[in-house]
Amino acid sequence: MANKGQIGVTTENIFPVIKQFLYSDHEIFLRELVANAVDATQKMKALAASGDCKEELGDLQVHIELDEKEKTLKIIDNGIGMTEEEVDKYINQIAFSSAGEFLEKYKDQIGNIIGHFGLGFYSAFMVAKKVTIETLSWKEGAKAVKWSCDGSPAYEMEECGKADRGTTITLFLDDDSKEYAEKSRIEGLLNKYCKFMPVPIVFGKEQEWKDGKYVDTDKDKVINSVEPLWTKAPSELKDEDYKNFYRTLFPMNEEPLFWIHLNVDYPFNLTGILYFPKLKDRVAVERNKISLYCNQMFVTDHVDNIVPDFMTLLHGVIDSPDIPLNVSRSYLQSDASVKKISTYITKKVADRLESIFKEERAQLEEKWDNLKLFIEYGMLSDEKFCERALKFALLKNTNGKYFSFEEYEKAVADAQTDKDKKKVYLYATKPQDQYAFIQAAKNKGYDVLLMDCELDSHYVNLLEQKLTDTRFARVDSDAVENLIPKEDKIKPEMKEDERYDLENLFKAVLPEGNDYYVVGENLGETSAPILITQNEFMRRYREMSALGGGMNFYGSMPESYNITVNMENPLVQKIWGAKQADVKPQAELPAEAPESASEEEKTKAREAREAVRKAHRADVQAFANGNELLHQIVDLALLGSGMLKGKPLADFIARSYSLLK
Ligand code: ADP
Repeated sequence: MANKGQIGVTTENIFPVIKQFLYSDHEIFLRELVANAVDATQKMKALAASGDCKEELGDLQVHIELDEKEKTLKIIDNGIGMTEEEVDKYINQIAFSSAGEFLEKYKDQIGNIIGHFGLGFYSAFMVAKKVTIETLSWKEGAKAVKWSCDGSPAYEMEECGKADRGTTITLFLDDDSKEYAEKSRIEGLLNKYCKFMPVPIVFGKEQEWKDGKYVDTDKDKVINSVEPLWTKAPSELKDEDYKNFYRTLFPMNEEPLFWIHLNVDYPFNLTGILYFPKLKDRVAVERNKISLYCNQMFVTDHVDNIVPDFMTLLHGVIDSPDIPLNVSRSYLQSDASVKKISTYITKKVADRLESIFKEERAQLEEKWDNLKLFIEYGMLSDEKFCERALKFALLKNTNGKYFSFEEYEKAVADAQTDKDKKKVYLYATKPQDQYAFIQAAKNKGYDVLLMDCELDSHYVNLLEQKLTDTRFARVDSDAVENLIPKEDKIKPEMKEDERYDLENLFKAVLPEGNDYYVVGENLGETSAPILITQNEFMRRYREMSALGGGMNFYGSMPESYNITVNMENPLVQKIWGAKQADVKPQAELPAEAPESASEEEKTKAREAREAVRKAHRADVQAFANGNELLHQIVDLALLGSGMLKGKPLADFIARSYSLLK
């Protein structure tokens, strides 16, 4: 009863289309065929469970057989099989998927019908020049049929002698798809796509070490684990199970910090396990470590569209039949249900972190340093997550103590509120370099936070927006007396030209190439003579622009420093006194040209005034250059800030020795 016909496709010839359209993803043919075999097996189980089928099921397994010589690949199942009419309906009438129909009828028994991919079976023609189906339906009295097709729209169908229930698909591999005739290639694909499929998949035999080499045993090798961890109930699982599962997913990685078991069936279906990996810096961050599955069948490891950007730092598995898939590129479309899923996952991650904060505070503190980058990145990039995280994120101070935002506010509010009623949070980025400043702040009863994460300059900005009446100041951004101004401070009385002299005095001996803003202040006799600080905002913008924050204007400006001269310090007084005595006061400035004068006269007058200033500036500079004490205190301040290098450092050392003589 050989039966010939034309496959019912609308396109003139579907195969060139399939090949071209699916070109980049040829390898998915195996996933599609194994998925069909798994579906057929699951349907068999459903029939048995419903009582519709009473026959002996046997060992329900899918077998993959490769003949490397003949270049054939078989996918064999003992699922429900197909009758002749069914082959006609489901295979010949291409693009007509029976899954919907079947699901409708047996939806209570089947949890997991995989095949929603439409073009599934025909993807075989991406790699095969000829495909045959031999199949025997479970239905009583059904006859076995063999269907074959050589890649043209013509097919043949005839009865055959297949005696066991189920379906065998045979691919006669194309000459340009020879790679799929290699055992290792097939092994690799099964491992990638089928590792967690719900029916045992057998490929080859287990091996053992015998007489100096590996040999096949007679035990079938099952390549998948049919009940991966995420399909189990969280209540049945122990920490060790989660850690082991992480190890099977990422054998090379360090142990994860925490994990979340996702499990929801309304309003969409989603299960999975997400792990928080240790994150130390941006360079070491590994993205694309979340795999998306659809009923235990691997779809993709690009989940960028279904989780917010910062979540791609997490590792693990998401399984959902409700995420729309596209067979050609296995990519996800950003539609409404995907957005819901994304919101759900973000919420779950925040819930989990909050519960860790409440119930496992010690654990959270212990792991915080490795978790911080993830949380800060999340807070910076996701408004909703940020609102949640303000409840569980921690601050760490330079003594290694951790606080929640609420706790910190309480701890420092008394000592660190300035005259404008703003709380000032002091922080250090490099405790070694900023040691003296940190000590000075502590001596004043202040607390100093540690902000050494690379996102911290952005993070500090964000926190200033989120926390009310709070300002951050790096501990070395000003003299400790000025960091948290309590009352309007008393400036030393200096005349305009004295201020000008002070500026020129110090600029004469400071390294070239930077901008300096020199001010005299009364900081007390015992405080250091000079403080070199960097304006909090200038420095922060510069750092952010280096990280890529769009503020390149700041990045291209010269470094600028505040030079605070303590006019009450005895050394400064000594130098200042000498200057007052040795440098003759500036000569009287010639009068300015009147408004009515000509441009030429105005320029002349301006130049005459400038010449007087210049002459005086030269006097001050000459004094400065000859004053060893001035050089010495400036160099010591530079040294303390890590800014004394090269020749100036060598000069300093030489001068110090000579002063010791
Ligand atoms: P889909 O899997 O999306 O339904 P396919 O083209 O892969 O589309 O398959 C079409 C139909 O052919 C399936 O829905 C199923 O009814 C039937 N089919 C395919 N492979 C098998 C198989 N191994 N056993 C039984 N039926 C199968």
